[in-house]
Parts: sequence; C-alpha cells; structure tokens
Amino acid sequence: MTVIIDGKARAAQLRADVAAGVSEFVAVRGRAPGLTVVLVGEDPASAVYVRSKGKATTEAGMVSGEHRLPATVSEAELLALVAALNADPAVDGILVQLPLPRHIDTDRVLATIDPAKDVDGFHPINAGRLATGLDALVPCTPSGCLMMIEEALGDITGKEALVIGRSNIVGKPMAALLLARSATVTIAHSRTRDLAAHVARAEILVAAVGVAHLVKGEWIRPGACVIDVGMNRVATGDGKSRLTGDVDYDGALGRAGWITPVPGGVGPMTIACLLANTLKAAKAR
Ligand code: NAP
Repeated sequence: MTVIIDGKARAAQLRADVAAGVSEFVAVRGRAPGLTVVLVGEDPASAVYVRSKGKATTEAGMVSGEHRLPATVSEAELLALVAALNADPAVDGILVQLPLPRHIDTDRVLATIDPAKDVDGFHPINAGRLATGLDALVPCTPSGCLMMIEEALGDITGKEALVIGRSNIVGKPMAALLLARSATVTIAHSRTRDLAAHVARAEILVAAVGVAHLVKGEWIRPGACVIDVGMNRVATGDGKSRLTGDVDYDGALGRAGWITPVPGGVGPMTIACLLANTLKAAKAR
C-alpha cells in the first residue's frame, strides 16, 4: 500500500506553527516580520505565485510587501531596488521572483540580496553555508521535501537517496540536505546513464526535472519514499491542461511506500517554508 503524503495538510500545520512564532516575535519585538517580493514583467505563472505568497504572508501575521516592475526595467534599477530593500529595517526577507527577463543577470541580482534577508536561500553565501554544514537560509522547496521525507521515514542515516536534477534551486540543495542527514546520495541529471538502474536502488527518490512522467512506476524500488517536485503542464485533449509531476503517479501507486501527489504535494510546502525562512531571518536580525 502506498501512503499519499498530504502536502496541503502538512503545509497548513507548518503555516500555523509559523503564525504562532510570529505572534511571539511581535510580543517581544513590537513589530511583525516583513517579506517583500519583487516581480519583474508579466509572466502569468509568476504573478500567481507572487499573489499566493503575499496572501500566505499576511495570513501568517507578517507584513507583505510587493514591488512590480515592468519587463523593460534595467538591471541597474533592479539592483538599486534590492539595495534599498537591503537597507530597509522593516524588511526581513527579500524574494526576487524568477525567471527574470533575459537582459538581466540573474546571478548578479541574487548575489546583491543581503544573505541575511535571502529567504529563498539562493545567495552563494547561503549555498556555501549549506554545503559546508553551517546554519543557513535553505532553499524552500528542498527544505519542504526533507521535512516530508523525515516524517515518512524517521532517521534516514545510511539510506540510498537519489536526487534527479542538479539545479541550484532544488537538486543541489536537496542533495546537500540529504547528505547532511547521512543518507548515501546520488545525483542524476540529463547526462546520467541508465536512470532506471539508479531509481531501482533508491529508498528515497526526489524527482526535480520538469519532464512529465520521466520516472516510470516499474522503475521504483518497492517501499521507496517518492517526492515529486516536477510541475509540468500537459494538455488534456479537451483544449484544457492539467498539472502533473515527473513521476508516473498511477504506475507508482501500490509500489512506492510513500508518494507526494502533483498538485498538492511539494508545492504547498514550498510557500510554508518561505514563511518559516522569513521568521528565521527576522529572529536572526
Ligand atoms: P531546472 O533548473 O530546469 O533543472 C532540471 C534538472 O533536470 C537539470 O539538472 C537537468 O539536467 C535535469 N534533467 C533534464 N532532463 C533530464 C532527464 N531526461 N533525465 C535526468 N535528468 C534530467 O529545473 P528546476 O528549477 O530544478 O525545477 C525542476 C522541476 O521542479 C520543474 O518542473 C519545476 O517546475 C519544478 N519545481 C517545483 C517547485 C515546487 O514548489 N513544487 C519548486 C521549484 C521547481 P542538466 O543539469 O544536465 O541539464
């Protein structure tokens, strides 16, 4: 039997914990933590994310700020805004929504955010701190994945873990988090040979690729904990589309020990972890 991990319910619990932490913070410091999101351009998916992040921030009792800039904004103007937010004492967390327009150097923008306010955990200082085992602001998606893995399996020392994907946003920090918990970690990517053989060994499988149903159900090791980060929009044939993951969910049911659905698995946890990071950043300042 496969346990379906309810990311929505777990995220609601985490958001409630954060809200309780925010109340304590307000009582002690006399102000609420503030998260400011910067959105450049009109990408509809990004606009949806920014809206839901703002709503969740307010619901947790924090101050939500938003800056919308046109797609034509210059890199210098965006960097100046980030610098102003770095200097603003009411802002504890800064999130620049990705992707940015092509004429802007994303790495330069991310590296300009004060690492202490880098609630996405994408600054090289935070990536380096995570890699070297120091306390860090950790990227939200892999943080949420780790919580769900540990709640399913308990201690993961020595377990075979496979992370498919090596992005700075998901794959690499996910691997670092699993390694820090003493799992035996393999990272697969587009040049990996015989992905199926790697999947067959994994007691923990995190798929963060962006290819619908790349991982076949019959590849999965019986009893594995399967975390599906992929968010792929596929046509349903009636002129509509639906979201689906990187794992063949139906094929994995009955074989995996645990699995996260798409939607309703990793996604809700990501926003909840963003709130947790904002509270952590506010407490540390
Ligand atoms: P990304 O930067 O495009 O990275 C994708 C990774 O997958 C790359 O490392 C790539 O390898 C690897 N890959 C591509 N094709 C492959 C194949 N056939 N076999 C094995 N590996 C392959 O993507 P990302 O930002 O990490 O996001 C991955 C997915 O997670 C996307 O669907 C995204 O929408 C989703 N996502 C969801 C959330 C959430 O909150 N639910 C958050 C972030 C991302 P190379 O490095 O060799 O190119």
